[in-house]
Amino acid sequence: MNNMQRRILWTTAALFWVAFSPALGQYPGYQQKADYSMDIVLDTALHQYDGTMRVTYTNQSPEVLDRVFWHLFFNAFQPGSMMDVRSRNISDPDRRVGSRIAELPEDEWGWQRVESVKVQGKNVAFEEDGTILVVDLPKRLRPGKSVTFDLTWKAQVPRQIRRSGWMNAEGVEYSMTQWYPKLCEFDHHGWHSNPYIGREFHGIWSHYDVRLHVPQGYVVAATGVQESATNKAMPNGTPGTVVRFKADNVIDFAWATDPDFVAETFDVDGVTLRLVHQANPELDSNWTALGDYAARAMAFINEDIGPYMYPEYNVVQGGDGGMEYPMLTLVTGERSLRSLVGVTVHEMAHSWFQAMVATNESLHEWMDEGFTSWAESRCMAELFADPMKPSENPHKWSYSGYINQHLSGNEEPLITHADHYKTNRAYGIGAYAKGEVFVEQLGAVVGTATRDEGMRRYFKEWSFKHPGPRDFKRVMERESGLELDWYFQEMMHTTNAIDYAVESVVNDGESVTVELSRRADMPMPQDLSLAWDDGTLTLVHIPLVMMRGHRPLNEGEILGADWPWVDPKYTYTCPSEGRKLTSVTLDAAGLQADIHRDNNAVTFDLSRVQEAGQSN
Ligand SMILES: [Zn+2]
Repeated sequence: MNNMQRRILWTTAALFWVAFSPALGQYPGYQQKADYSMDIVLDTALHQYDGTMRVTYTNQSPEVLDRVFWHLFFNAFQPGSMMDVRSRNISDPDRRVGSRIAELPEDEWGWQRVESVKVQGKNVAFEEDGTILVVDLPKRLRPGKSVTFDLTWKAQVPRQIRRSGWMNAEGVEYSMTQWYPKLCEFDHHGWHSNPYIGREFHGIWSHYDVRLHVPQGYVVAATGVQESATNKAMPNGTPGTVVRFKADNVIDFAWATDPDFVAETFDVDGVTLRLVHQANPELDSNWTALGDYAARAMAFINEDIGPYMYPEYNVVQGGDGGMEYPMLTLVTGERSLRSLVGVTVHEMAHSWFQAMVATNESLHEWMDEGFTSWAESRCMAELFADPMKPSENPHKWSYSGYINQHLSGNEEPLITHADHYKTNRAYGIGAYAKGEVFVEQLGAVVGTATRDEGMRRYFKEWSFKHPGPRDFKRVMERESGLELDWYFQEMMHTTNAIDYAVESVVNDGESVTVELSRRADMPMPQDLSLAWDDGTLTLVHIPLVMMRGHRPLNEGEILGADWPWVDPKYTYTCPSEGRKLTSVTLDAAGLQADIHRDNNAVTFDLSRVQEAGQSN
């Protein structure tokens, strides 16, 4: 078997396992199914395209459906759209958007105009409601039944403002993301027909067969595997090419095209990794170097989280920063090598959490962006390991970002819908930084090795199933044997923070008494370290009562009595046997997002300690 065959077999086996594995936790046991076949003809003079599609939609839910919703994302790029109004009213607009939509000339607006919708071959009425198309079904769609839609539509590709569009800031002509009528997801929580305001999304794992008709000389990169490229004249008689792509089990289909694109491919554990960018003598060396980093990154995440399950991954220059799509990301290319690697690793890591696990990002943005950021930080620490700073915390920027946001008073709870945060900053810090802290800090509760194993188990058990927070919690509970309701409740539903302190230390020569306190609302198990003047350490792990257990102890570590969360104080006593303390520290590993780390440790200047004893 060649690599491709092996991968197809592997993916098929994985999907079979997913489809027939027993229901776990909250898993409802079904996924909707959509099979898209599309023909697209691009007009590069008007920046418009004509589209026809046939979609077979199978209702695998136990519910009867009488209407179906579709996304029409391009309609967001018109003055007065919800995305435009939101951007002009939020206190900290995304600089890429600002008032740019309001200022677009009409020939640079984005729009999708649906011309006809047929259901089972018969024309039906439909309604375009901003970025959502509503189609009432003439006959109710029962569980287990399929329906065929035929759509024809015209679209104008917006001037590139956010994610998709014509002519990005680096001169890439077409960044074609969120660009076609896409079925909204109906899952065990119901329909998710969110009006698009430029943020997170959700989708059905679908099959795509897409034929893209572009002028000759345009190089196309897309989700899926290229099946063929056939010469065919454009409607105006000029030479053209039809490039056909197929993709399986992807929640979206994205593409980009530019006449100046060049491509390089690499093989990573049987996956084709392709880099596509504009030929540019000043940047080519960065892209060449990126290939090696990206290949190492994919191999690292394969080991760290679980195997990438698609046959290809494309890193394509385009868009306005970095945005993840299945099997493809668009990133801007005019960056330093380190920045190019960083954005690529982040978007690639999304393949695991956005493409394969695919939580509903609008509802649980932190489970996509946060987990992705966590994986990215681990991968970047591996790629850019600094022998001079072996113990530097790769997650430190997320900790400081989250803590600063908390202290500013503008933090919003993670349970907030991605579209509805009051500020872009609160969304960004919540989704990315606090989401990353959420995972890393679990190491302080269940142990870091258990947490890592839990992440692998989560990926394995929940790929292709749209899990939610409770599903993730149950994986971590089963992996650790601990109860974690309290952790998820505090971290998701509240803006409570952690502040534990060493209040006092008394060493009378025979024994040491350390008084600890919880000064803020969020309870956490604690790790206390006592450093002695003979160079030894006493390490004490203090679980919470409500965990119903404790993480695995490290070698030589002492298990302290449980700390009931209601008690603001905790006293620990141990023999000092004539030794003096040099320091007493809480959370020496720095796993907890403690908002006042300055009260976590007491150090003693032994030259100034009286013979009689020590106190603080
Ligand atoms: Zn991201």
